[in-house]
Amino acid sequence: MRFLLWMQPRSHSAALWSMLVLAGVAVFVTIVFLPLQRGGRDLTPTSAVLLLGSVAVVILGCRAARYRRIPALIAWALCPLLAVVAIVVLDLLTSDVSVAAQVFFFFPTLYGASQLRRAGAVVMAAACVVGVGVVVFGSLPLAEAAADIGYVSAALITTAVLLIRSVERQDELVTKLERMAAVDALTGLATRRVLDEAARSAISGAVSQEGTSLILLDIDEFKSVNDRYGHPGGDEVLVQLADYLVRSARRDDVVSRLGGDEMAVLLPGCSVASLQRRAEQIVADVGTHPFVLQSGEEIRVSVSAGLANVPADAVDLQGLYVRADMALYEAKRSGRNRVGMLAEDTPQPPVD
Ligand code: GH3
Ligand code: MG
Repeated sequence: MRFLLWMQPRSHSAALWSMLVLAGVAVFVTIVFLPLQRGGRDLTPTSAVLLLGSVAVVILGCRAARYRRIPALIAWALCPLLAVVAIVVLDLLTSDVSVAAQVFFFFPTLYGASQLRRAGAVVMAAACVVGVGVVVFGSLPLAEAAADIGYVSAALITTAVLLIRSVERQDELVTKLERMAAVDALTGLATRRVLDEAARSAISGAVSQEGTSLILLDIDEFKSVNDRYGHPGGDEVLVQLADYLVRSARRDDVVSRLGGDEMAVLLPGCSVASLQRRAEQIVADVGTHPFVLQSGEEIRVSVSAGLANVPADAVDLQGLYVRADMALYEAKRSGRNRVGMLAEDTPQPPVD
């Protein structure tokens, strides 16, 4: 079972594409260059049928696996190994142990190193080394065969190792970038992008009677905190506020930093009445919470909150943000340190 998992490609479509390219090049090179080889070899009908047949089996097998017509795990595991077997059989059938024939063992190795994870890539490289061994020891005197397998294996293994390392490095960078896009570096909260996705799926998913609620929070007079305690002091306040919001959140809530001193809490399945209660609680808690800086200084800050709910205030994500933003503006305008929620009959601003 573990072996089957090793052999699963990172991306099915990329694996299929690389297989098509490698198989296409192999067939083209064989048909065009085989007659030019020393001794003027010809592709016998048996070899031609075997060559095209095995390419077709390998590609169709993986294509079928993509659509789950046959057990996908098995097809993805066996087809690349079948390609190695096909190269061995063709080399033996044509009694070809030339460099030109052995070059094809690089193709499954390249497939493994570029499309599979480390264990699968090692399996493919090892299968190719064994394949070369079968061909050369089956056709050449022992010393010549040993020299051949030494040269070819060294090249195969070096290619595989360098490519595996480079693909793994690329994976690490992609993971890092994905994390950067999803997590705010200062507070560790979800980014706006994650909040948007969660809100979109909450709104379009099973619509509960309560709907989806949003609290937009903005620290009051935060510029003066920065002015008085410096940017690092302001940062500490942001981090502590984020920690409080996470601690006070329910399991399904998403707490996000939208930017600057603005944060948001998405509350899926939260009614307007509960939304009001939660927001009042947050504003009251923050207002009475002592924010203690590393320097030992104690700061008091307050926040203003803007609330909105789908379907009570809006029908979609954009409407939810617009209404919450308008409500936040109202809360700021009417004195700060309070919760704002628009009356249901407040007209929606025009959408541009
Ligand atoms: P208001 O009550 O109207 O919200 O007043 P305010 O001073 O909080 O004004 P506003 O929300 O527009 O200002 C946000 C300030 O937050 C501006 C910027 O200097 C500061 N800020 C933005 N990002 C960061 C950050 O990452 N760290 C710190 N320390 N400050 C930040
Ligand atoms: Mg502010």
